[in-house]
Amino acid sequence: MKRALIALGLSLAYVVPAAQLAASAPMQPGQAPGFYRMHVGRFEVTALLDGTHPFPADKLAVGAKPGEVAHLLAQQNLRSPVEGMLNAFMVNSGDKLIMIDTGAGNLYGKEGGGLLAAMKAAGYDPSQVDDVYLTHLHEDHAGGLILDGKMLFPNATIHVSKAETDFWLDSANKPQVGELLWPFFEATQEMLAPYIAAGRLKTFDSNAPLAPGLKPVPSPGHTPGHSYYLLQDGTDRMLFWGDTVHVQPVQLPDPDVAMKYDWNVPKAIASRRRIFEEAARNGWWVAGAHISFPGIGHVRNLGGGHFAWVPANYSLNR
Ligand SMILES: [Zn+2]
Repeated sequence: MKRALIALGLSLAYVVPAAQLAASAPMQPGQAPGFYRMHVGRFEVTALLDGTHPFPADKLAVGAKPGEVAHLLAQQNLRSPVEGMLNAFMVNSGDKLIMIDTGAGNLYGKEGGGLLAAMKAAGYDPSQVDDVYLTHLHEDHAGGLILDGKMLFPNATIHVSKAETDFWLDSANKPQVGELLWPFFEATQEMLAPYIAAGRLKTFDSNAPLAPGLKPVPSPGHTPGHSYYLLQDGTDRMLFWGDTVHVQPVQLPDPDVAMKYDWNVPKAIASRRRIFEEAARNGWWVAGAHISFPGIGHVRNLGGGHFAWVPANYSLNR
């Protein structure tokens, strides 16, 4: 039987006219909505891709040696502008559905805004989200809080450090950052307004746990109130490190390269070096907002102040 089918297939191929074989299917422009799921102990973690955008690493780098950015990108067959990610993460504890950052939403034009489709593809709806934890208030992390000016997460409480709201909700702080960041003050008002009006914004000012297994870790530098979130169950740990890294091929090998988006460059570098060493030493999972999707992996300490990123091995098994 099998042999007969093979013979039939061969003979059909011989009789189909060449013109019909050449009839082409139009190429399709899209990608699948991006989600990637894994477990950290009892927690289900889902990475969601809000979008990607060309990131001019060479123009935005601060403190790099001449030619260094191009050289390090070339080591990974990349060049500036390098495609940057807008990753957000969802944690289901079984009791609570949590978002850690929300992507850019509409605030990055067509380059963001994929979060909702990715979330739905992952089997969730924004109305199910109980809590949103923000690493900081830049619009590529908090822009996804709103859609057309309304709350995308109408049942969620928004958590962010007090140092962060104190800074970005007060335009008098503009002189402390580069002009590049001035629009972020107005964006913060816009993103938080409906949640403030609904009494759903809650700030914290310590590293006390915010939920079972989830605690903030203050990490000032990129912004004044930047916070990591450490998720832990038993010996399993995952660190959500926000904007510790903007350009993985550059800042892992050389953590001293900062970005023009940083509020305080020396503090950003110190925070980065400290957490690279700690994450590598402890073998923590790391989830990064701007590392190639799903942005989950480990840090390896190469010695001499240099580090490497080891991406998670893709798996269909949770
Ligand atoms: Zn960012």
